Amino acid sequence: MDIKAIGSSSKGNAYIINDARSPLLLECDVNFRQIQKATGFKTSNLAGCLITHEHKDHCGAIKDVLRAGIDCYMSEGTAEAIGIEHHRIKTVQNKQPFKLGSWTILPFDVQHDVSEPFGFLLANRNGNKLLFATDTYYIKYKFKGLTHIMVECNYSLDILNENIENGRVPNIMKRRLLKSHFSLENVKEFLKANDLSNLKEIYLLHLSDNNSDERLFKEEIQALTGKPVYIA
Ligand SMILES: [Zn+2]
Ligand SMILES: [Zn+2]
Repeated sequence: MDIKAIGSSSKGNAYIINDARSPLLLECDVNFRQIQKATGFKTSNLAGCLITHEHKDHCGAIKDVLRAGIDCYMSEGTAEAIGIEHHRIKTVQNKQPFKLGSWTILPFDVQHDVSEPFGFLLANRNGNKLLFATDTYYIKYKFKGLTHIMVECNYSLDILNENIENGRVPNIMKRRLLKSHFSLENVKEFLKANDLSNLKEIYLLHLSDNNSDERLFKEEIQALTGKPVYIA
């Protein structure tokens, strides 16, 4: 399975996962041209686009994606908050699996400061089981037999605290981050709580510009899990 990050930060997120049968777009806040390029100008092959929530850095290009004839899947709360009427917007329900090409997709609720944010568990016939979770400070569920994890790792509490002490980051930002984004410390706890015996790869997503450290995050998660870790 091929996982490609086109964008992964508060400036814009978009990923393509491709199992050679049904390529999927996860989030869509990059220039549509970049999505075209990443698919080899075959956007019509995309089985769909999954959108986790209404923040612009996750759905900024939705009008272009819809116009290109790609169905966009999201919660009812997210669809309402985005506020676009379009026949290609498909709403899905929490914990109700649905099929998209070769994938069976289970949406699940996550913890973020928006109306109805989802994470997605994606399984296909090749035995791949991929977890996609971003913009959540915590995941309350445990998963079995994951082969791929794509998870936000926005900041480290140590770096954030240092930045607040030095006046680089306002204290109010900390209050928001604690209740909206995944810290390195919480990602570690999440990984420890889950069965990683089938896990092949971990992708860390949506790193903060100020409050993260790519090398440190990669080393620490690699040391904890013994699996290859990539920074998206
Ligand atoms: Zn975001
Ligand atoms: Zn967000």
